[in-house]
Amino acid sequence: MQDTVLIVGAGPAGLAAAATVAEAGKKAVLVEKEDILGGAPIISGYAKLVPSGEWAKDAIGRMVSRVEGNPNATIHKSTKVTKVDGEAGNFTCQLSNGQSVKAGSIVLATGFTHFDSINKPEWGFGTYEDVLTTTQMEQMVAQGEIRCPSDGRVPERVCILLCVGSRDRQIGREWCSKICCTVSTNLAMEIKELSPQTDVFIYYMDIRTFGLYEDKFYWKSQEEFKTKFVKARIAEVTKSPDGRLLVKGEDTLVKRPIVIPMDIVVHAIGMDPNEDNPEISKVFGIGLERHGFVDRAEQYTNSQGTTRRGIYVAGAATGPEDIDTSIAQGQSAGSRALADLYGAAQQAAG
Ligand SMILES: Cc1cc2nc3c(=O)[nH]c(=O)nc-3n(C[C@H](O)[C@H](O)[C@H](O)COP(=O)(O)OP(=O)(O)OC[C@H]3O[C@@H](n4cnc5c(N)ncnc54)[C@H](O)[C@@H]3O)c2cc1C
Ligand code: SF4
Repeated sequence: MQDTVLIVGAGPAGLAAAATVAEAGKKAVLVEKEDILGGAPIISGYAKLVPSGEWAKDAIGRMVSRVEGNPNATIHKSTKVTKVDGEAGNFTCQLSNGQSVKAGSIVLATGFTHFDSINKPEWGFGTYEDVLTTTQMEQMVAQGEIRCPSDGRVPERVCILLCVGSRDRQIGREWCSKICCTVSTNLAMEIKELSPQTDVFIYYMDIRTFGLYEDKFYWKSQEEFKTKFVKARIAEVTKSPDGRLLVKGEDTLVKRPIVIPMDIVVHAIGMDPNEDNPEISKVFGIGLERHGFVDRAEQYTNSQGTTRRGIYVAGAATGPEDIDTSIAQGQSAGSRALADLYGAAQQAAG
């Protein structure tokens, strides 16, 4: 009989799954490929999270401590799973550190990969120092000062371009990344708070601050922090002779070309499928959906199931998700994996 659940990935989803299993008195073995725990919010240095406003290092840090402090949890950092044998109730998993783990069930919480803005070269990333991604801008906010990377001046104007690497059929990314509108409206307020003399613009196709976030982020950013929203299609970002950035495109409300000088341009990057997914699919014998995220078994009666019995999935591994949902899915997948251990025990007893 197995009393262990193997969890792969120690972001918000994996940490929630591990805590669910360990707090129920079963063994959680957590395998993380990086040498730190916490997933994207920690690895990429997010600043204050939406919607809580809490610093990522504190909020996710609490999730890490809860798992690290539980004697039922074993953690393997800088490690991957290289081979999975057996079946639901009795898996044997080989780890890249030479150890092997016997587990009754498995939870995949392997998350996503940030879109690489280099794949959108016409928008200036990689060419101009003052074109940044949201994660880079969050790191600047976390340091407490807004300055142009090129020469250290305080920016007169910052603009955030939404949907970079999302909702873009030309580069094969048809999905909405769900959280970047909310993250960007919040970032606009953080920039304004730190640098009141800076005007912040958001260039958008649509604003998707879903659910309660409409009021808390979209309207607040516009009304209290005076963020300027421009409905536009952006063609390119170039440099003017005076060194400022020129954002060229079309204002799609009045159908006129626009060219506005900016000091910093921020790409609101989206969420790609984890670049490891082809390897994960092979090692764990699970299917991927057509965009490359992990496929799910059945939407309503087995929402956290993958296409292989005994292997569950949670969080942004299944598609763009926010942290709250990733945690809820982690708990749900952890519970399903836990229930399988009892199923295996009953089979062994019968
Ligand atoms: C710019 C940006 C800002 C964001 N800000 C917010 C915010 O303020 N609030 C919010 O709710 N959401 C935010 N999000 C979304 C948030 O990042 C995700 O909801 C969250 O990270 C998903 O958690 P996860 O555990 O599913 O995946 P991840 O955080 O991606 O964690 C996955 C973990 O698995 C590990 N891993 C991957 N592959 C393997 C492998 N093969 N073997 C072992 N380990 C592996 C990774 O190293 C990582 O530690 C933001 C997203 C972006 C792009
Ligand atoms: S959440 Fe907003 S910025 Fe992100 S892809 Fe969707 S519409 Fe674009």
